Amino acid sequence: MKAIIVGGGIMGLSTAWGLARDGHEVELFEQGPLPNPLASSMDEHRLIRHPYGDHVGYARLIDDAFTAWDLLWGDLGQRFYAATGTLALTGNGADWAERSATALATIGKSMIELPLADLRLRFPQIEAKGVERAFWIDSGGVLFAQDIVTALAEYLARQPRIRLHPHTTVRSVDLEQGRIVTEAGTSHAADIVVVAAGAWVDRLLPDLGRRLIPSRQVVIYFDLPEQDRAAWAKGPMIIEKTGDVGLYLVPPMEGRGFKVGDHEFSRSGDPTAERTATEDDIRPLLQRCRSLLRGFDRWRTDRLKVCFYTVTEDERFLVEKRAARGWVMSPCSGHGFKFGALMGLELARTIASGRDAATHARWAAGLEATAAT
Ligand SMILES: Cc1cc2nc3c(=O)[nH]c(=O)nc-3n(C[C@H](O)[C@H](O)[C@H](O)COP(=O)(O)OP(=O)(O)OC[C@H]3O[C@@H](n4cnc5c(N)ncnc54)[C@H](O)[C@@H]3O)c2cc1C
Repeated sequence: MKAIIVGGGIMGLSTAWGLARDGHEVELFEQGPLPNPLASSMDEHRLIRHPYGDHVGYARLIDDAFTAWDLLWGDLGQRFYAATGTLALTGNGADWAERSATALATIGKSMIELPLADLRLRFPQIEAKGVERAFWIDSGGVLFAQDIVTALAEYLARQPRIRLHPHTTVRSVDLEQGRIVTEAGTSHAADIVVVAAGAWVDRLLPDLGRRLIPSRQVVIYFDLPEQDRAAWAKGPMIIEKTGDVGLYLVPPMEGRGFKVGDHEFSRSGDPTAERTATEDDIRPLLQRCRSLLRGFDRWRTDRLKVCFYTVTEDERFLVEKRAARGWVMSPCSGHGFKFGALMGLELARTIASGRDAATHARWAAGLEATAAT
């Protein structure tokens, strides 16, 4: 079987990997370099964690996600992950952490509540103003995202049945016939076409613009005094909601940067537009950091990064069969990277084995325990 994949982010690359493992032929087209620094997948890190609020379906998939990453580390000959554990902090009426703990208990995962006095002893680097309750689970950590996509693209370039086409924008797709046409006017055909075009997907499939809303997100990298950096290099990852802005914090594991972002979807923006962040973009986040992180006044903003992803209304993933020979693959809503290897492997299996497409779509949406019927 031959597949064409449009998009060389983690989803397109992982699907190519899954298909190639099973001996299929793949042509992958990417509009920029491979990997493309403008892709959602291209940042120093992405978090993986069991706590998932009420979305127990996704919490249940995390163990499978870790298994898929382990398979990838085996093929790449290197592990791009550091464990940190997951600390969830709440206050001011927010209950995401409590809901996560309740949901995890139903699948046999223990997320324990830390008394606030213990929180201060265990993590003295946290100031914790406004925090009313703290929850902890040992699992979770940091995936070194851009190193993963870089290594995976290099690995795929060495596979005999894979052809990568960087700097080749796909202008149109015909998912009924299994054809694509590039910006240069070249036509290519295959048994199946997978569109994994991230925040650009509505340019190829305009009707999806109503369901997959591009969202402009800004993250802050900080430069810390050496002593603070050493303390944070041991973790933890933090998911916090105690004020107007909910934040996540990525500790500087294995020499990577220290990053903070928020959970608020902008639900607007154009991925092709100029990517400059402003003071207004980060003011609420900085304010929250000031009351959450000890010694924050000594920290310096190192750089800001603007990134785009798509969001669905219910934050579930959209992975759907379209027409006779097409799939749309958008497991994102700002939380897709952690499932990248798993989503790619499973879509490859469904495509190659003819498993039921509707079951696969429900599985990717976190509504089925397995993609197979
Ligand atoms: C700030 C931020 C924080 C995040 N944090 C997390 C996290 O902690 N945990 C987590 O699990 N997830 C997180 N995510 C989400 C995760 O990064 C995305 O879900 C994931 O990277 C999406 O991968 P993708 O392959 O679908 O899209 P992308 O990585 O954007 O790849 C799509 C690719 O398609 C290419 N393309 C588009 N159109 C065409 C065309 N016509 N022709 C050829 N090529 C084309 C693009 O150039 C791009 O390279 C975060 C995202 C952001 C932005």
